[in-house]
Amino acid sequence: MEIKEMEVAQSTSLFNQVSTMGHEQVVFCYDEPTGLKAIIGIHNTVLGPALGGTRMWNYTSESEALTDALRLSRGMTYKAAITGLNIGGGKAVIIGDASKMKTEAFMRRFGRFVESLGGRYITAEDVNMKTKDMEYISMETKHVTGLPESMGGGGDPSPVTAYGTYLGMKASAKKVYGNDSLSGKKVAVQGVGQVGMHLVERLSKEGAEVYITDISEEKLSKVASQHGAKVVGQEEIYDLDVDIYAPCALGATLNDDTIGRLKCQIVAGAANNQLEDENRHGSMLMDKGIVYAPDFLINAGGLINVYAEHLGGYNKESAYQHADKIYDTCLNILNVAENDKIPAQEAAIQLAQERIDAMGKVKLSF
Ligand code: NAD
Repeated sequence: MEIKEMEVAQSTSLFNQVSTMGHEQVVFCYDEPTGLKAIIGIHNTVLGPALGGTRMWNYTSESEALTDALRLSRGMTYKAAITGLNIGGGKAVIIGDASKMKTEAFMRRFGRFVESLGGRYITAEDVNMKTKDMEYISMETKHVTGLPESMGGGGDPSPVTAYGTYLGMKASAKKVYGNDSLSGKKVAVQGVGQVGMHLVERLSKEGAEVYITDISEEKLSKVASQHGAKVVGQEEIYDLDVDIYAPCALGATLNDDTIGRLKCQIVAGAANNQLEDENRHGSMLMDKGIVYAPDFLINAGGLINVYAEHLGGYNKESAYQHADKIYDTCLNILNVAENDKIPAQEAAIQLAQERIDAMGKVKLSF
C-alpha cells in the first residue's frame, strides 16, 4: 500500500471508532518540551459543556489510551444525564508515568490545551491527578474544577463519590434483601485509594465485615488498621464468599474470567467501566442472578461535587443532598431492569439517553 493510502485507511478506522460511540470531537494534544501527550474526548454536549476528569496512566499503547478516553467520556455523558445535571460528557487522558512526568510546566501546558477549547471541555481530577494539579491548570484556564477549598473550589470530590457509591450499594441491598442495612454483610472492596478508603470507613461504621485488596501494601495496612478491614490477595478477591463485591480500582474487572468466580449477590463499586464488554458481561451478571448497580450511576457523587463548583458558590451540604438522590435512582433502575428483563446497565443507559434525546429537541450541542 502507498503511504497516502495507508494514512487514509488509518484515519478512516480512527473516525469509525469515534463515530461508533457517537463522539462529537476528539482532540490530540502534543507538546515536545514537556513531553505531554494527551487525548481529550468530547462525547456529547447537548446538555451543556463536557465536564469530566483527567486521568494520567502509563498506557501500554496510544490506542489503549484512545479507547480509554472514548469509553470514559461516553460514560460521563450518561452519568451527567441520569443524575439530572446540565452538562455533557468529556474526559481527558494523559499518557505517561504520573510519578515522574508531572511538573508545573507539564500541567500548565495541558491547561492551555483545555483553554484552547473555549469552554467546550471542563476538566477535574481523575486517577493520578491531585488538587495541586488542578491549581496549575487553573493558571492557564478557568475551565477547571476540583480546585482546593482555599481557592473557593469543592476540594477532592472522592468523599462525595464514596458517599454515592455507598448509597447505591444500600439501594441494591434493599432490592436483594428487602432492607438496606449493610450491618453484618460481607463486602469485598477492591482498591482502597481516594474513594475506596472513604467507602470502607462508611461500611465499617455501619457494621459490615469488610475485606480489602490493593497493589499498595502501605494503603492496605493503613486502611486495615484504621477500620478493622481484613486484607486479601489481589486475585483472591474474586473467589471470596461475600455478599457484595465493590470494584474501586480500575475498569474491566467484570469479564469472562471473573464473573464465573463471583459468589456475591451484588456488585456495587465506584470504578468506571467495570464491565469489560458492556452488553455481554451485563447479561452474564444478570443470568447469574447478580444485581449490578450501574457504575456511572452510583459513582456520580464526584461529578455532582465538581458540577456544584462549576455553577459557582460551592456548598458542600447541597452537593451531598444532591448525591442523596442516587439511592432512589438506583433502586428505580434495578426495578426497571427486573421488570423489563434487561441488564441494569442497559436500563440506566436507556434512561440517560431519553433525557438527552428530549433535551436535544430543544437545544443544540454546546
Ligand atoms: P485512586 O488512584 O486513588 O485509587 C485506586 C486504587 O486502586 C489505588 O489505591 C491503587 O493502588 C489500587 N489498584 C490499582 N490496581 C489495582 C489492582 N489490580 N488491584 C487492587 N487495587 C488496585 O483512584 P480513586 O480516585 O479512588 O478512583 C477509584 C476508581 O473510581 C477509578 O476507577 C475512578 O475512575 C473511579 N471514580 C473516581 C471518582 C473520584 O471522585 N475520585 C469519581 C468517579 C469514579
